[in-house]
Amino acid sequence: MDEFEIIASIFAPLAGEGAFGLQDDAAIIPARPGFDLVVTTDAIAEGTDFFAFDPAASVARKALRVNLSDLAAKGAAPHAYLLGLSLPPSMTPDWLAAFAAGLQQDQAEFGITLLGGDTGRSEGPLAISITAFGFVPQGTMVRRDGARAGDDIYVTGTIGDSGGGLAIFSRETHTLDEAQRDALTARYRVPQPPVAFGARALRGFASAAADVSDGLLADLGHVARASGVKLLLDADAIPRSDALRALWGDDDAAIVRTATAGDDYQIAFTAAPNRHAEVMQAANVCQVAVTRIGQVTAGAGVELARAGKLLPVQRSGYRHF
Ligand code: ADP
Ligand code: MG
Repeated sequence: MDEFEIIASIFAPLAGEGAFGLQDDAAIIPARPGFDLVVTTDAIAEGTDFFAFDPAASVARKALRVNLSDLAAKGAAPHAYLLGLSLPPSMTPDWLAAFAAGLQQDQAEFGITLLGGDTGRSEGPLAISITAFGFVPQGTMVRRDGARAGDDIYVTGTIGDSGGGLAIFSRETHTLDEAQRDALTARYRVPQPPVAFGARALRGFASAAADVSDGLLADLGHVARASGVKLLLDADAIPRSDALRALWGDDDAAIVRTATAGDDYQIAFTAAPNRHAEVMQAANVCQVAVTRIGQVTAGAGVELARAGKLLPVQRSGYRHF
């Protein structure tokens, strides 16, 4: 199949309103009066963010979801996306068809469509770059710079599962049963960003937010820097799944590893203490776990404490370079 056959047969069925069936040079996102268009982009590459043996559909869903978590963390409702593909020579039509089926599944789940993209060949590994667009009511995008001393710190979901899944794929020894192992590897393959919680609730109470991609400590470090505050985290409060506890145990090193593993695609956010009931009610309505994990104070940086003792952290998260 050449580039145009791939676009016409595999991707055109995913196109939405404004995409002109992927037959034009560009697409349109109609302006929505009273809203801001929020834009984000994130790429994933074979060997770094997924394995060559991962199912094509899960690779597609991860590529999309790492972007949806950014929109969710900004309080935006997802609208559409662009898809950039660098395809190695070994790529087959069957793989691409399964990849498109994965996109289709998540388009239906999250109410988004494909607007266009670019398809090229690469001699390197498969790389997928997605640019996603979402809407927020004008002026309400949740930023990184709004955390204030006295605010509470929260995180959605559980942290570290994806890192646990990666450890299992990387042949770290363990004694997990099959269900526990699958729970962790599934989170590595298909992140579960809290899209509805982000879009419907977050901007109502969050003073600052970031999606957790490089590591909880690393991403909260960005919030601390942008806001000019210090974030104090209670190590024991960081939500960890039973499967992850079974894998890494409960000692200080396990918690530091959890908080620095990354690839979580949950939302870390801050909110004034008088919003606590509202936060918990939104969590309940959206059926998302939300855990209070610390407090904002004056100062700089992020500190992880356990029973009153600071835990030393060598590296706060994943670094690409
Ligand atoms: P150009 O010649 O300007 O580079 P292309 O030939 O790359 O345009 O693209 C033709 C059309 O196909 C455009 O509408 C583009 O958005 C779409 N397209 C190309 N690659 C993809 C892709 N991977 N996913 C979705 N749409 C794509
Ligand atoms: Mg092009």
